[in-house]
Amino acid sequence: MNERKPQHWADAVALEVAASGRLPVISTGISPSGEIHIGNMREVLTADAVFRALNDQGVETGFHFVADNFDPLRKVSPFLDRETYTAQVGKPLSEIPCPCGGHDSYADHFLEPFLESLEKLHVRVDVVRADELYKSGRMNRRIVTALERRATIVAILKELTGKDMGDDWSPFVPMCGACGRMNGTRVSGFDAAAETVEYACDCGAAGTLPMAGGGKLQWRIDWPARWRTLGVTVEPFGKDHSTRGGSYDTGIRIAREVFDCEPPHPIPYEWISLKGQGDMSSSKGNVLSIGHVLKVVPPEVLRYMVMRARPGKTIKFDPGRPLAQLVDQVDDAHARGRDERAMELSRAAGFEPVGVPYRHLVMVAQIAGFELDRVMEILDRTGYPGVSRTAVAERLEYASHWLAEFAPEEEKYTVQERLPNEAAGLTGDQRRFLSGLATGLTDGMDGAAVHDLIYNIAAGFESTPPAELFQAIYFALLGKARGPRAGSFIAILGPGFCARRFAEAAGG
Ligand SMILES: [Zn+2]
Ligand SMILES: [Zn+2]
Repeated sequence: MNERKPQHWADAVALEVAASGRLPVISTGISPSGEIHIGNMREVLTADAVFRALNDQGVETGFHFVADNFDPLRKVSPFLDRETYTAQVGKPLSEIPCPCGGHDSYADHFLEPFLESLEKLHVRVDVVRADELYKSGRMNRRIVTALERRATIVAILKELTGKDMGDDWSPFVPMCGACGRMNGTRVSGFDAAAETVEYACDCGAAGTLPMAGGGKLQWRIDWPARWRTLGVTVEPFGKDHSTRGGSYDTGIRIAREVFDCEPPHPIPYEWISLKGQGDMSSSKGNVLSIGHVLKVVPPEVLRYMVMRARPGKTIKFDPGRPLAQLVDQVDDAHARGRDERAMELSRAAGFEPVGVPYRHLVMVAQIAGFELDRVMEILDRTGYPGVSRTAVAERLEYASHWLAEFAPEEEKYTVQERLPNEAAGLTGDQRRFLSGLATGLTDGMDGAAVHDLIYNIAAGFESTPPAELFQAIYFALLGKARGPRAGSFIAILGPGFCARRFAEAAGG
């Protein structure tokens, strides 16, 4: 067994997991308390990479996603109607009405679009809803054990976190039978044989609840209990859980000393941060939903972003120009067979590379008004003959969303059908410059020839800097001060057309 260490992190993790001899069951989980964003997506894609790697090694593997929809709503987030939701704080997400009225519950409102995105990303995962897990009674034995071993749990938590849990602390959180809340209830007794819990609530209610669906375990106990119930042996989790005294640390001890099981193989992962706004988090509001990003780039591109980085490395996500560059990198890796394993693990429905640099395509698309025939014709004469029409059509769809939502201003423009009003403010030198261009431009010139012409003419102006002269080109064509590289831009638009426009702008 002295094989070469695999190149890709997912294969390395898969080897370690397979070597442990335990049946691999990979688990992931997210609380659907708000929009599920691409930071959350890293967890599921990290797990999916290991799942695929294990399958590739011929190891049968389980893979599930636990939707933590039985967690209580903690606060009224800014995106919620304060009046409606203040009364819902403390109730489980699965028992609260959805914000739009179109879903079965608050949890489903956020869960359903996430599951649709997983489909697109080709993540084949068994979905386990935490409320169903509890309501089915499958957690009852764990609840009994936790209540019986309360003292052991309290000692472990004290030892590892330094916190005293207090006299009325219980590993079980009852859901009040009268008001439906979990945030004001206390356990006053339990019956292990009948599988019931006695409780009292701040609302004044008290009584007996079935363990099945009558509440849930506290997070730090819930997690190891779930490892036992679902047989989890591999789990990625965010760095907040992997700190000293964090929930993985306490989970290890609780798993072994209370639930009599081994903790899963950990895969701690770093966050995805959003450029200029720090780590993505629902409570900070700086999130991008996965569905949103999947409108802008193909699923393979999003997968690749996660696959190529080791889980321990922060991913900086910038949906502007760097995202466009990422599309080019994936195209390029595809065409040249580069970064093969990461590309293989990024496979979704099927990726067809376009073979045209993204920014060129975006420029051509805007010049052609997104008409496919015109786009194909321009690509053909600008150095990209014979590219796939279906691939271009698909990419244009993504590009139009990218332009509308994330592209930097200077990437966006519309060629004006008439001389824009902005051209009225051109200086004398700018007009003379355009006039020179109008005389020099002839149809058939390519980008390089136009580029040379522009620089030669600009060199003749001593008192006006070239940048100011070039602005005249953009004012005359686009009605704004900046635009794409002038040489190829004019060549694509047609030097004859531009010559007429420049003559008009120069004052005829
Ligand atoms: Zn809804
Ligand atoms: Zn109550």
